[in-house]
Order: sequence, then C-alpha cells, then structure tokens
Amino acid sequence: MRTALLQHPDSACHVMQPRHPEAPSRIEAVLERLQASGLAADLLHPDPAAPVSNEDLARVHPAEHLALLERLTPESGLAPVDADTFIAPGTLTAARAAAGTAVAAVDGVLGGDYERAFCAVRPPGHHAETRLAMGFCFFNSIAIAARRALEVYGLERVAILDFDVHHGNGTAEIFRDDPRVLVCSSFQHPFYPERMKGPMPAHIVLTPLAAGTRSSAFRQAIERDWIPTLETQRPQLILVSAGFDAHRDDPLGGLALTSDDFRWVTDLIAAAAHDYAEDRIVALLEGGYDLEALADSVEVHVAALAGR
Ligand SMILES: [Zn+2]
Repeated sequence: MRTALLQHPDSACHVMQPRHPEAPSRIEAVLERLQASGLAADLLHPDPAAPVSNEDLARVHPAEHLALLERLTPESGLAPVDADTFIAPGTLTAARAAAGTAVAAVDGVLGGDYERAFCAVRPPGHHAETRLAMGFCFFNSIAIAARRALEVYGLERVAILDFDVHHGNGTAEIFRDDPRVLVCSSFQHPFYPERMKGPMPAHIVLTPLAAGTRSSAFRQAIERDWIPTLETQRPQLILVSAGFDAHRDDPLGGLALTSDDFRWVTDLIAAAAHDYAEDRIVALLEGGYDLEALADSVEVHVAALAGR
C-alpha cells in the first residue's frame, strides 16, 4: 500500500504555556519514533505542504472566524481563547500549516500519488466549530480536507471516523446539515466538551463510552455503530481524526485502551477503505498527550495504514 507520512516544521510555531499538554514535543516524540522504527525512512514525504488557502478555509469557516483569530493574535505572549486554549504569535502559522497538510494529503490521495496518508501535524482541529476555536483547536483541518474532496474532486460521499477520547464536536457541528459526510465519533461520556445535545441526524453517529472502557467494550461498540453505517454510506474516501488520548496512560483521557486497540481500529478502517473507497485513507493527528503512549500508538497506526 503506497502510504505517505506528512509532517510540517511550522507545527512547532504554536507554543502555549510551559507544561501545556498540547506542545511541540508531541510531534517530536511521534517523528522520533517513526524514524527509529524505520517507517519514516520509507514513508516520509519530502516537501512540507503550502499553508491552507483562504479558499479552502472558507469552505468551513467564515471570514469573520479568521479575522477574529487574527485580531486576537498577540505580538508576544499568549492570548486566551478559552480556559485551556491560547493563541501565540505563531499559532495561526501552525494552524494554517496543519490544515494545508490535510489538504495536500487529500490531493495526494485523490490525485493518485499514494493511497494513504498520515499527517503528523498540530494544532489539532476536531473541536473547532464553524465560528468557534476551542479545546486546543483553531481550524477544523479534517473538515477542510473533507470539503476539498467534495468540492474540488467532486466526491459525493466521505466518511470521517474519529476515535479521539473527546467528542469531535466541531466536525459534527460543521456537517450536521451536510449528509454527504458521515461523521462517526467514539468518545468518553460524560466528558469534555459535551457540546452536542438533542437528537442527531443519521449521518452523525455518536458512540459514547463510559470512563474506564477497555478493549473489548470499545471494539464491540465500534463494530455495532460504525460498520453498518459505513456499509450503508459506502464512502469514496475515509478521513480519520486520529487522536490517541483514549490510551490508558493518557493524562487527559479516562478510557483504558492500548496501542493494540489502535491497531485493531486502523485495520477495521482499512478494511472499510478497501471495500468502498479504493483503499483511500487520510488520517490526521488529533489528541494524545502521554508521549510514550502517543509514540507507541502512532507507530502501530501508521504501520497498519501501510499494511505492515
Ligand atoms: Zn482529545
């Protein structure tokens, strides 16, 4: 399976306060591990992507969202967006690079350069709503990638699968009225951010998991909720919000998964991509805050994407 590993040096431009868990060291840990394992030598794409264009951004976020974030950007120090999320002078540079990398991965996959891509970039994006930066997220990169696949490549059905420990509320909000995009999210519940209330349309699939959920219950829930909806929707491209904070060692999450569960869910996603999507998968790093667990999990995820 031709698989590309994409990274971007501008991921390091977004730095919140010391000891904030969403730090550049996450990407360093991931890339070090992928280098040590030999995966980077085989898969690393040589050229960093261009920053996301305003046109791609505008398919998800209105101009006022960007204007507000630009206005909030300080010349030095940090400006708060919410209780846990801060804008630094380099934040939007990093966020544009992350979304641009997602766009480049869609172009690579739908342009036929490779079947699969993993984007080792930050900040994450799945909490960012149409008009709201929150939860360490500024631009919803996975949503920008999905809209590019739909609007530029003319795809009719895309699935976004999200196994981060936190609900991908931004992605669900963005596509709530766009049934071309199936959004399946497993997450700890009750837990941050609890933004989705009331009945959901059929293409927004919620898989809440109680604190302490382990492998077997996680796997049963995914098989119960994701497999039938994927079978019905038959996505032409699968996008993955690959957060690894449901790992049992994660300091923010309260689930009890292991890296073997991430291999399992990646294999399940790969099987669906094989059946419906001509093997096409674009995965984006979301959460994951224990550096050792994150590196372990990304290694098995990328190896499984590459079919190793
Ligand atoms: Zn998370």
